[in-house]
Amino acid sequence: KNRNRLEKKQYSTEDEYEDTMTKPHAVPIVVADDGHAFKLDEEALKKVLMKDELKDRFVVVVSVAGAFRHGKSFLLDFFLRYMNAKYVLKQNTSEWVGSEDAPLEGFSWKGGSERDTTGILMWSEVYTTELSTGEKVAVLLIDTQGTWDSKSTVKECATIFALSTMLSSVQIYNLSSNIQEDDLQHLQLFTEYGRLALADSGTTPFQRLQFLVRDWRFPYEAPYGAVGGQQILQKRLEVNEHQHNELQSLRRHISSCFTEIACFLMPHPGIKVATSPTFDGRLAEIDSEFKDNLRILVPMLLAPENLVLKKINGDKVKVRDFVQYCKSYMQIYEG
Ligand code: GDP
Repeated sequence: KNRNRLEKKQYSTEDEYEDTMTKPHAVPIVVADDGHAFKLDEEALKKVLMKDELKDRFVVVVSVAGAFRHGKSFLLDFFLRYMNAKYVLKQNTSEWVGSEDAPLEGFSWKGGSERDTTGILMWSEVYTTELSTGEKVAVLLIDTQGTWDSKSTVKECATIFALSTMLSSVQIYNLSSNIQEDDLQHLQLFTEYGRLALADSGTTPFQRLQFLVRDWRFPYEAPYGAVGGQQILQKRLEVNEHQHNELQSLRRHISSCFTEIACFLMPHPGIKVATSPTFDGRLAEIDSEFKDNLRILVPMLLAPENLVLKKINGDKVKVRDFVQYCKSYMQIYEG
């Protein structure tokens, strides 16, 4: 109740609050309590998932994780544009990105959710489709937020990262400018948690890890997109005998946790996006190279033919069982 009141306070009028609550919005599903332990908001999760038309569908969970202020919400808003055009309006157009002069609106991940708190948010609208195999699926989008700025918060972030990785079938690791050794170390912490939790399943614990490097500045070294990303990734995850033992095992460890690891290099979106306080997301003010790559990246992750089903212990999971899995994963971390 307390939390509801707090959230309500962020809206200027009661109407605005009601409006946001009935429109699709970001729902906090894992939140820190006062003692900094994380709690699953089971009721909130059930409210999103436990609907008759969803229960028997297989789950696809696409998660975006990373520190604040590296353009995560901006990206997620484009994800929503795509989902809306493709899954809701069933448009078969490459123009899902929107028109040049329209502000990016209709949904905002920032919405009423508290800013700059570590936790996991789920989009309240679940998208449904059928795969070419005939399997009916439900696509869940989650945002994993963290700060990574002090020792204690690094541990919190690693925990929340581990959880979102375990819950997702595609974990998008949003990074600024490059893949640094630090970023890989954050991964180690959470892959360790993850492996612990899935210790005796005997299968590769996680499905797909997608590095996403924003503001890539060396296109002459490795081109924007997936091909350049693969080049950079290979260099960063390469194991050789000149490396310190720890660095070698970190790399082996990361590689052994995922069925597939990929990387995509995004160009800088342009000066207006990065600095203008009045920027409202309109495409005309975004660099065309960024938009071109967005048109490749988003369908690569979210088009029905590219969806990755969530597997737990090697088995596909239905929505009705997913809530239970979330609960048991949380129990590993609680206390
Ligand atoms: P979040 O905290 O990670 O969700 O970040 P936001 O999406 O709120 O973006 C933070 C700021 O960075 C905003 O002013 C965005 O307009 C801007 N931004 C969005 N995408 C990018 C990007 O790819 N590169 C840069 N340099 N800025 C971006």
